[in-house]
Order: sequence, then C-alpha cells, then structure tokens
Amino acid sequence: MNSRLLFETDPEIFDAIFKETSRQHTNLELIASENFCSEAVLAALGSVLTNKYAEGYPKKRYYGGCRYVDLAEELAIQRAKEIFGCDHVNVQPHSGTQANIAAYLTLANPGDTIMGLSLTHGGHLSHGHPINFSGRYFKVIHYTLNPDTEMLDYDLIRKLALEHKPRVIVSGASAYPRIIHFDKFQEICDEVGAAQLADIAHIAGLVAAGLHPSPVPYADIVTTTTHKTLRGPRGAIIMCKAKYAEELDKTVFPGTQGGPLEHCIAAKAVAFKEALTPQFKEYQQQTVKNARALAEALTKRGFRLCSGGTDNHLMLVDLRSKKITGRDAERLLGKVNITVNRNTIPFDPEKPFIASGIRLGTPALTTRGMKETEMEKIAELIDRTIAAGENETELEKIKAEVREMVEAFPLYAERRNEYQSIAKEG
Ligand SMILES: *Cc1c(COP(=O)(O)O)cnc(C)c1O
Repeated sequence: MNSRLLFETDPEIFDAIFKETSRQHTNLELIASENFCSEAVLAALGSVLTNKYAEGYPKKRYYGGCRYVDLAEELAIQRAKEIFGCDHVNVQPHSGTQANIAAYLTLANPGDTIMGLSLTHGGHLSHGHPINFSGRYFKVIHYTLNPDTEMLDYDLIRKLALEHKPRVIVSGASAYPRIIHFDKFQEICDEVGAAQLADIAHIAGLVAAGLHPSPVPYADIVTTTTHKTLRGPRGAIIMCKAKYAEELDKTVFPGTQGGPLEHCIAAKAVAFKEALTPQFKEYQQQTVKNARALAEALTKRGFRLCSGGTDNHLMLVDLRSKKITGRDAERLLGKVNITVNRNTIPFDPEKPFIASGIRLGTPALTTRGMKETEMEKIAELIDRTIAAGENETELEKIKAEVREMVEAFPLYAERRNEYQSIAKEG
C-alpha cells in the first residue's frame, strides 16, 4: 500500500528505491561497513515516529505528547545496556561521526591534544584527520601500525602518549583486521592521565556477541554506529561510565544536536532486540568464520593479506603482487557486480585516491546466508576478475556466475516483488 502511494506521488523516487533494492540483491556486497537490516527495522524506520519533536530525554522533554516516543527510547536504552553492560547510554546520535563529536567535547576542550590511529593505517576521518572537525578543533597526534607486523604497537602508542600527553586517546578503527586490546590502551591512558574513547563502530556486533573483547569495562566513553555489524538502522549510540552521564547527555543535546530522530531510535531498539537473540550470536560467529574462509582462500590464490590474515569480520588485501591498484580493482570488480572499496594499506606508497589495497568484509553476505563454500567461490571470482583485466568476454562470464550466486540467496524478495508488480501495472 505504501509503495503504491509512493509510486503515484513520486515515480522518480520510487524508481530510485526500486533500482537500489535490485542492486542490493544482484551485487555481492563486500564493503565491510555495510549490512542489510531486517524488515522489522525498516518498518520502524518508515513509521510516523519521524513526525515527533522530542528535544530532551525520556520524561524530561521540551515538548508535549512524548509519552510514546519515550517508550521507544527507553526500550532502546534498556536493551543497549543489556547488550553491552554499560553504566549509561545515549541513543540519540544521528551518526558515528556525530557520536564522536559529542564524545570528544565531553572529554576535552577545543585546542586540547587527542591521539588516534592514522586514517591511512585504518583509522577514521573523525579520529583527527585535518579536513575533519576533529582535526580542526583539536591538536592531533596520530599513531601508526608496526611496519613489520602491520598491527597495533602498544609500545609505540605508549611512547607517543608519554611524549605528547594527550587528553584523549582514541582506540578503534575502520580498517583493522585484528583484535584491539582495549585493556592495553587503558593501561597507557592511566599512565599518562588520558581518557580512552573506544570507537567500536565496526566491531560492535562482534563485541555484542562476545567474539571480540569489549572496551566497556575500561574505556571512559565508547561510541558505535548501529548500522554496520550491529545490523540496525543508520545511526549511533554513546556509552559511558556513570560519572560522565550527565555531561555526555548535555553535550549530545543541546550541545551538538537538536531534536532526536525517534523513528531511528525505535529502529535501533528493534535491532537491539534482535541482537539479544541466539540467532544473532550465530550470525556473528558465521561472519567471523566467513572472513577467515575468504582470507584463507585469497591467500591460497597468491593474495597478500595485511598482517597475514584476520581475527574479525574484515581483511585488507595488498594488491601489489597482482600488479593492480585498489582503484582499478574496485572498478573491475564493480563490472562483475562485486562491490568492494579501495583502501590504503599500512605504509601505502600510493595516494589514498589510488590505494594499493581493497578492504573486504563479510557481514552483509553472511546476513544473506552465505557460508564458507560461497567465500571460497568469491575468492575465485575476485582472482579471476583481476586476472581478466579488460577481457570483456571473461568479465561477462564472471558476472553471470555472480548472478547465479545471488539468485540462490535472495535479498528483500517480497519488497522487490511488490515494487516489480507496481512498476509493471504502471
Ligand atoms: C563508520 C565509522 C564511523 C562513522 O560513522 P558515520 O555514521 O559514517 O558517521 C566512525 N568511526 C569508525 C571507526 C567508523 O568505522
């Protein structure tokens, strides 16, 4: 009913949504930060909660009529606490970057020194990149990975921290395939008098399922997106120790945001309910198994993986041995409907726009039900695509094989059928 109305009101937007839904189904999605949320999450996102102004927090709002959005926000809070075991959580941040803005401003003042992993070594823009607010408002010291192991080097981080005495040390990354030892970060923070901001945007689902050590017992503040491994709607949450609760809430609203997106908050609550089920734990376990299977299959085919492999849901593939850049690999794989993103590798000789690597993640394909067998097949397809280069006949053949794979793991089938019939009826 809603889709038909959308079609009648705005056929152009209907068309964009229809095509995007088909694209998600027909492509092998290996972008490590993406996932496919459930129909239940989508239903909450598309609800009338979007209409409600609710500045403030449950039972302390600046608007009338908030009793039902309060119910939704309280459920989101309660469930997030149950998943992560944190003292306090704010579920209002619109995105991971907004969450980090509020986290920094809770722990530090503009002009203070912060320390984070360099973007080109797997950090995030919001960890102090000069073109980001974090690099403009704060003095930034970046730590890098160990050149031999391509892993975090806690001695190096400690040395830098002792030298620069940052107010905040950011732990967490966007393209790091190994376990992050938040306890070791905390030891360093304690030694130099810094606060730890753990950004678990990528690994939150693994942390929720107990497959990656949690920073919650250590870090002063923990931020995460809700749309990556956590498989919820686009958005974020911030967890903190009790002593920061009041200051953090004030920094989110009115400090850095206005009215909360209550439809997104309700959708976060739905995703959190899903995350508390045994099926979610199995899903995360399979995501990690799939990453390991894909990593091993690629290694067998002569690809070098940064740090030698993966402990989590993603891997960084160094393409130099295959004589292709990240940018060209991304383009070729796109031609056969395999979606990846180019990524710098540690100490990359190429500029980020070109990059020597690609980042691959298994959360999205695992949601579709794919397992180790499919990962081996995907490694083969990636290898053949890169070997094919501009050989269009071979690329067409590979694309047909991708097509066959995705048809065996349908995505949003009901939705696509509904759009299809509406478009056909016209
Ligand atoms: C994805 C990510 C973010 C930012 O999330 P947005 O919602 O895109 O702003 C922040 N930190 C890390 C480590 C991330 O991977």
